[in-house]
Amino acid sequence: MLSDPDIDLCRRYTGETWAGAKERLDRLPQGSPLIPAAQGDQAFLEAEVLRALLEFPTAYTTRPLRVLRVVPSPTRPVVRFAADSDPDGLADLIAWGLFSTGGKDDLRGIRGLRVTAAGHGRIDVGLLGSDARLRLEGIPEAAWRGAEQHRHRQAQKIGTVAPFQQTGPTPGEHAFAREHRWFDEAWKEVSALGSALLRRLLIFRSGADWLDMAGFTKHTTTYGFRLTCAESCWTPHDTLIGHLTHPVCGIALKEDMRTCTCGFGERGCRIWFDGPEQAAGRLDLQFLNVERGCEIADYNQALTYMGSPSGEIVRVTGWPPGEAVECSSGCRGGHDKVAFLRRMAEVRSKERGQRRPKAG
Ligand SMILES: [Zn+2]
Ligand SMILES: [Zn+2]
Repeated sequence: MLSDPDIDLCRRYTGETWAGAKERLDRLPQGSPLIPAAQGDQAFLEAEVLRALLEFPTAYTTRPLRVLRVVPSPTRPVVRFAADSDPDGLADLIAWGLFSTGGKDDLRGIRGLRVTAAGHGRIDVGLLGSDARLRLEGIPEAAWRGAEQHRHRQAQKIGTVAPFQQTGPTPGEHAFAREHRWFDEAWKEVSALGSALLRRLLIFRSGADWLDMAGFTKHTTTYGFRLTCAESCWTPHDTLIGHLTHPVCGIALKEDMRTCTCGFGERGCRIWFDGPEQAAGRLDLQFLNVERGCEIADYNQALTYMGSPSGEIVRVTGWPPGEAVECSSGCRGGHDKVAFLRRMAEVRSKERGQRRPKAG
């Protein structure tokens, strides 16, 4: 019988609802880890989703990589996204970030990712030639339809096809496989770590108070997270590392010797980890520090514009949503994150031939 603290602990990693976590955990076989590991093609699909999310820009939201929860259900795992106030941006992230964009030297997106069903804010995806599947949730339908049509039009323009419902490889996927098949093999080798990280993505939120999370990947082996924190709301990195390596819900990561280089184990640091014994791959964790009030306020306004929950904005910036702060002497200004986000939204609606959905 699972205790309430077990459920609460698990939810810090997955972001599941209390009832959802309880139901899932009650069905686990005796002795199973609270967050089971995916195997084979399923682990590969999940690791590829993480890789694609890390490579697509997902800044200025309090949700790690725009993800609200990951339900590690044995039959069909679910990744639920937060639409926030930018559903078109989210739909673009799915349409251009997760699906392959073609070209023999184009690493972006997941080759062979296909839509198996869509509707009611959900998109079920699978990998060609495998049983691996995943449900993507929280994508507003109109935004998704717009993104899908846009990709179909773009594909037509250059004489190819969009991958969504293709029954075989697209010409671009085919060309890539011919040139660079080894990439898939290399990505497969690190897929256990990638899947384990995706299944615990929410610990990056519940375990650290960052202003912004940026993702990146390096070589074929390394998953990178860059956390930018306000000086005033700093979480010591050892706190997050403690959560990441927690004996019950964490991953048995091995710190690459003692790579912490910051003065007091806290600020402006970059730390590398190796995956557990059975799982190849690396985690590259960076901590950046923002000291100036006006810079923190700039993040605050961007988070507010993006529709992040006010409680989280207060927690990570120390101020209520939308707070403006005068530049301190010596600051050269140039705080224009909201202007940048507005421009991005305008470009998107222009591309899709829509009128601007909303003003600021
Ligand atoms: Zn350090
Ligand atoms: Zn300033």
